[in-house]
Amino acid sequence: MRLVGLCWLLLAGPAHAQSRIESAETVPATNQWLQPGDRLQVRLQGTPGGQATFLGTHPLTELPPAQAGGRRGIYQGTYVVRPGDTLRNRAISFALLLPTDSTRATARSRSRVRFLSPDEPQLAVTKGPLAYLNYGLGEDRLGGAKLGYLDSLVTLHVTGMVGSQYRVRLAENQTAWVPQEVVRLLPPGGFVPTSLTGSWSVAGDSLYDTVQVPLTARLPYRSELLTDPTTLVVDIFGATSNTNWITQRDGIRELGDVHYQQVQPDVFRLILPLRHAQAWGYSIGYRGNTLVIKVKRPPANLRLRGLTVALDAGHGGENVGATSAAGTQEKDLTLAIAQKLRRELEKAGARVLMTRETDATVDNGYRVLLLRQLRPDLLISLHANSSANPAVQGTSTFYRYVAFRPLAWALYEQMRSTGLKGFGNVGSFNFGLNGPTEYPNALVETAFVSNAEDEKRLTDPQFQQQLAERLRAGLEDFLKATRAKGPRGWLLHEPARN
Ligand SMILES: [Zn+2]
Repeated sequence: MRLVGLCWLLLAGPAHAQSRIESAETVPATNQWLQPGDRLQVRLQGTPGGQATFLGTHPLTELPPAQAGGRRGIYQGTYVVRPGDTLRNRAISFALLLPTDSTRATARSRSRVRFLSPDEPQLAVTKGPLAYLNYGLGEDRLGGAKLGYLDSLVTLHVTGMVGSQYRVRLAENQTAWVPQEVVRLLPPGGFVPTSLTGSWSVAGDSLYDTVQVPLTARLPYRSELLTDPTTLVVDIFGATSNTNWITQRDGIRELGDVHYQQVQPDVFRLILPLRHAQAWGYSIGYRGNTLVIKVKRPPANLRLRGLTVALDAGHGGENVGATSAAGTQEKDLTLAIAQKLRRELEKAGARVLMTRETDATVDNGYRVLLLRQLRPDLLISLHANSSANPAVQGTSTFYRYVAFRPLAWALYEQMRSTGLKGFGNVGSFNFGLNGPTEYPNALVETAFVSNAEDEKRLTDPQFQQQLAERLRAGLEDFLKATRAKGPRGWLLHEPARN
């Protein structure tokens, strides 16, 4: 298209030039919903030296070629949406006029734009068991960086849209993005959800300590498990305190001095200190409109005997994973190592759960849901790494949450003791199987299938057996280190319960 335009310019010459628009689009070039204060950005490519406008009379500015990759005829414009503006899923109109023109060239964007009216708040509710919020619009093979998971039927205030994600307002100065496929838009007429918090109760049953916070709507939340001291922090967005007491019943064994802060007018923060240095996970969800947080206690004896360990052999079936030049498939390596590790753990008295036991295609979302039901004490997910550079080699382990790093670290140290090079211990890893907060979990990228030396070892059944033994030893190291840490010192004045 550009070549045609250039030839035409050369042939016709500027004296008789009629303006021409090569392309005109929003930036980003995708459907958008904007609200007052948001910027609509547009770019037009056309005949240089003209007057370009969009949305009727709003001007675009032609960029100096130095700012446009050496090209001429690149025009950009910004419009800040004002209160009262209306635009209902429309294409953006453009015009370009040269001084010599008798008629203007016109064009329309392919993407469609809607201006939202704050007077008619657009609401949505989460659907399905794996709804989540993203921080921004980033995308890579792991998806966008996740802010956290949400229960179903949580009401969200949608204040914008870009492409396939809605922007949601969490609090005065906090926004997040939610993929369209995990929410359902509500018809107009709803109120932006807010709630006063009721008085809490904290109780313990045979498995969990449970915090219950009554609300009048299912509000969005986010959580973070801090270490040193171990503390679960949960923010509820749109909530304001009317918590006049926190009843702490019998049977509480893991939670310490629970309390709250109203960190800003519409953010209510629960602060839940844990007794043990090593956290064993937690879940958050709603029962009716009551937010229920279940904190898992450490397993009874912190030894492999009696521990429930989930093993996840990565990929499988149609999802072959990484493949080496020689044809080695990751899915076969992960299953072989998982089966050997299973035998090692069972010999040591552990109960082992597998996300797959055969060469079957098992969706990662399904694996997460299955594990949510099975409630293992911890999870190890097994993979083999791959790089476009065949020289890259070594072993690595991955964790998402710092509270679960000790598990990933213990496995990493043992993996390196096999003689594999250390590729690194990787945190904040935005991978589905590292997403659950319910149990400590770690992903092991055993070695690089794309490296000849690593591949030779990975495909050797004896080396696979050695990996299984090292991973079992890593688990034992983790449990031993956890036993050594024990409960937190400042709680030792309380009756010993564990
Ligand atoms: Zn993999």
